[in-house]
Amino acid sequence: MEPPDIERLDERTIQRIAAGEVVERPASVVKELVENSLDAGASRVAVSVEAGGTEGIRVRDDGVGIPEDQLEAAVAEHATSKIADIDDLEAGVGTLGFRGEALYTVGAVSRLTVRSRPSDAEAGAEITVEGGDVGAVRPAGCPTGTTVEVEDLFYNTPARKKFLKRVTTEFDHVNTVVTGYALANPEVAVSLEHDGRETFATEGNGDLRSAVLAVYGREVAESMVAVDWEPDPSAAGGDNPVKRVSGLVSHPETTRSARDYLATYVNDRYVTAGALREAVLEAYGGQLAPDRYPFAVLFVEVPPDEVDVNVHPRKLEVRFDREAGVRAAVESAVEAALLDHGLIRSTAPRG
Ligand code: ADP
Ligand code: MG
Repeated sequence: MEPPDIERLDERTIQRIAAGEVVERPASVVKELVENSLDAGASRVAVSVEAGGTEGIRVRDDGVGIPEDQLEAAVAEHATSKIADIDDLEAGVGTLGFRGEALYTVGAVSRLTVRSRPSDAEAGAEITVEGGDVGAVRPAGCPTGTTVEVEDLFYNTPARKKFLKRVTTEFDHVNTVVTGYALANPEVAVSLEHDGRETFATEGNGDLRSAVLAVYGREVAESMVAVDWEPDPSAAGGDNPVKRVSGLVSHPETTRSARDYLATYVNDRYVTAGALREAVLEAYGGQLAPDRYPFAVLFVEVPPDEVDVNVHPRKLEVRFDREAGVRAAVESAVEAALLDHGLIRSTAPRG
């Protein structure tokens, strides 16, 4: 058999393959758009999706907006306002995004419209991208801020579209993402709507319990106790990999049958870290019924050099240098809160 020729793929094919790796499902689009709104300093972020996001996604914010003459750059590849060069990156990025590829990527696999008006602009403008074809910038009436609309996700990548799950499953993913940001940013009014019906809307008053009330309901909010823990500076060694653990955890009898309600954040980033979830469960020390899981919204602060958040840019995993120490800190923090409220019995003091 003759070896086949090796040929470079055409740009469109490269673009779509790359897009499929970044944008897996509607929830990944929602994550990128909500992060952009938060990076834009929004105090309101309204998300609405149709058919679990498979037919339509709209994210509207009241952030700084995009000037008309920047709209083309906003949807261009590797174009960002958040870092200028590698030095900025090394110095540490204070925004959720910085790669400048989300809008470009979403535009490659959907019909995307970005409509915006900065507060000092007299009128708004919009740009549309259809399957990678960038249209002209046009005037558009809109309030201050930015609205991004995504229709027919994956219409031009049928193989990717086939992998989408049922509408309810896709919506569950969207809901998890938006909930995660709503709880992490109680000072921002975040709302979610599915097929015209409101799923939740937080007040944006800065109070975590109020955000929990909006998202999970009164029973859960009222059962939550506050966690606020810092390492004891006089403890042996005095060198703890965790600076602070704070947030809310539920009464051991306010539980669900899934682990989905254990929301953990490391340095304000939502992460799915098995080690953190297990540490929370450990703290309940046998007070939970079998296969029942509590609610938790837990913020863990660690020095940046103790954690690698870039295990994979799209995944929500983290790796700790000193994982055992982090687990112990989280467990102590939650245990102290539960003990304080008489929700668990004291166990032998740990070393
Ligand atoms: P990144 O977030 O990594 O910079 P994106 O492709 O997500 O890349 O966005 C490109 C640029 O478009 C951003 O750097 C920002 O300047 C602008 N932008 C995107 N969304 C918004 C928004 N909601 N409000 C204001 N500016 C935005
Ligand atoms: Mg972004």
